[in-house]
Amino acid sequence: MNEWYDAPVSLLHGVGEERAKAFAGLGIETVGELLEYFPSRYEDYRVRDLTEVKDGERVTLAGTVYGEPSVRFYGKRKSRISVKLVMDRVVVTAVWFNQTFVKSRLSPGKEILVTGKWDKHKLQITVSEMTETDSDRAQKRGELAPIYPLGGDVTHTLLRKTIQQALRQYGEQIPEILPTDIVSRYRLMPRPDAIRSIHFPQDAENGRQARRRIMFEELFLFQLKMQALRRIAREQTEGTALQIPMEELRTFVKSLPFPLTDAQKRVIKEILTDMRSPYAMNRLLQGDVGSGKTVVAAIALFAAVKAGFQGALMVPTEILAEQHVQSLTGLLSPHGIQVALLSGSLTAKRRREVIGALQMGLIDVVVGTHALIQEDVFFSKLGLVITDEQHRFGVEQRRILRNKGLTPDVLFMTATPIPRTLAISAFGDMDVSTIDQMPAGRKPIETTWKKHEQFHQVLEQMREELVKGRQAYVICPLIEESEKLDVQNAIDVHAQLSQVFPEYGVGLMHGRLPAKEKDAVMQAFLSGEYAVLVSTTVVEVGVNVPNATFMIIYDAERFGLAQLHQLRGRVGRGSEQSYCVLIADPKSEIGKERMRVMCETTDGFELSRRDLELRGPGDFFGTKQSGLPEFKVADLMSDFKALEVARQETAALVEKEEFWKNKEYVWLRSYLKREGILDGIVFD
Ligand code: ADP
Ligand code: MG
Repeated sequence: MNEWYDAPVSLLHGVGEERAKAFAGLGIETVGELLEYFPSRYEDYRVRDLTEVKDGERVTLAGTVYGEPSVRFYGKRKSRISVKLVMDRVVVTAVWFNQTFVKSRLSPGKEILVTGKWDKHKLQITVSEMTETDSDRAQKRGELAPIYPLGGDVTHTLLRKTIQQALRQYGEQIPEILPTDIVSRYRLMPRPDAIRSIHFPQDAENGRQARRRIMFEELFLFQLKMQALRRIAREQTEGTALQIPMEELRTFVKSLPFPLTDAQKRVIKEILTDMRSPYAMNRLLQGDVGSGKTVVAAIALFAAVKAGFQGALMVPTEILAEQHVQSLTGLLSPHGIQVALLSGSLTAKRRREVIGALQMGLIDVVVGTHALIQEDVFFSKLGLVITDEQHRFGVEQRRILRNKGLTPDVLFMTATPIPRTLAISAFGDMDVSTIDQMPAGRKPIETTWKKHEQFHQVLEQMREELVKGRQAYVICPLIEESEKLDVQNAIDVHAQLSQVFPEYGVGLMHGRLPAKEKDAVMQAFLSGEYAVLVSTTVVEVGVNVPNATFMIIYDAERFGLAQLHQLRGRVGRGSEQSYCVLIADPKSEIGKERMRVMCETTDGFELSRRDLELRGPGDFFGTKQSGLPEFKVADLMSDFKALEVARQETAALVEKEEFWKNKEYVWLRSYLKREGILDGIVFD
């Protein structure tokens, strides 16, 4: 990378302290960042043949002022100036509203450029911008002028001028960073040209090509990181080939309360193969809500422990941690496996005990929230890390573990069915296993959509289930856990339902309860003491109470489809018919469509596809768990083909020995270094 690229913008002629500060406000501090501050669109200032221009279109015209302008005042401080403009073959009228100051600039015989809305019938242009042809502006040059997302003290004129200055000073030195054969095979514009043309395209096609090149480059670099990670994980061969006692494992599987589905068997095979191989597993396990991922995790943990290693299960919430500890203890402790909880709710004393026991190897499986692998926690022999629901186990976590001398197998479980586009974007560095089958005997959850005014009817429907001894969730929306209003909402609904169902226990759960109380409430619901649980979305992921067959989701229009599906997945976990009622009065067409889609399908993959269509990839994972890369130019949806190409090319590239040695790739290697991908790794 050229040094000037990372140099401060004040290096440029004409940029002093003051301007450098203004640029910093846009996140531009270096020359490189300035050149890569791309325009979001272009304003078309090209002078066109009037016969081609449609009525109402924006157009730039060049002409000579003919005669004196006429000024008319009307209303309160309103004015209209008009003047004749002589062009090549026609005379048109140029009109300004409320801009009396232009009058002095409109002397007869003056050549001007005007940009504005064209009225084909009156042969008239309503001017929004004007320049005299001797001034230096994008409009004058008759260009496609770049329009940037701006704010603060930076004007378009300043930004354009400074970028031009940077291009003058350094344009010739912008390096090509992609391998030359890729540039030629995909007919990409060379980088120096692309950087110039994306800011100042010669014409629309030139701008498109520049954009295409930059888009490809972004996806290429992104996928290169992923593929390098994959290769590196494979290179790390020390001590992770587990010797799993298969006979004992088979006995364990037979002892489970149910036979595994074929899909479960298949993914377990894939996982075990990884664990027995000498490289670190990096696998994504996706399976719809209720497809039975927990037992797969239990089997993998069993295998790791019996091979002489420890296992860790990381989860996003305390509730889920507690629940997993319970179910894993139930499954594993009869086989002499010690399971412990390590979470924020422990007392300092208990926490010290657990950490000590982990370090001494007295605990085999530890379950907790993400702090689990951090700071003061050490393992005696960590062999397997599993993350359940929404935990991205990325570069940073691996680095922490590597620093502790650990390269465990990692399994990432998610119930958010990820469409392929997003899967290879967000998880392109991983192998993927999919549970595409539900345990036998499951009945699809019957979902209906009701208006708020029908709430009491819905409660009667709920009563029928309660009478049968079943349990119910009532979910109240929560946009942000700290939002008073929404917690209040759950509290109100709880008060209301306690009155409607005095004969049943009604529990209340929300994120603000102290951990102890959350635990007590959850226990009471699990044991059946509470027939009804009024809750915010804290029960969204993982919670498993098979006797719950009825769910009401209040203000359902506030949730995304993926989230509604997760919530709905809390019921239908046993063999009984379950029901989900969405209470919503959505205003928008999209909102209504979402409710209809929810009622139509219970297939998470289908839903996620529809969700993606309705919301776009940015919102897909929700803000909490995005993990998706942000691109300046590329778009994961529309540039899907390029993404696929980038993935294939980078996957092939990192396998080549030349990539790690040859001079041609030095920029890409230093990029990987800067991104922290090569931390602690020596390849050269
Ligand atoms: P998820 O994939 O959403 O995490 P869980 O692992 O919580 O799903 O499983 C949902 C329910 O299905 C649990 O009650 C679990 O005991 C049960 N289950 C899992 N696998 C099977 C199976 N093969 N046959 C019957 N029930 C199963
Ligand atoms: Mg689960």
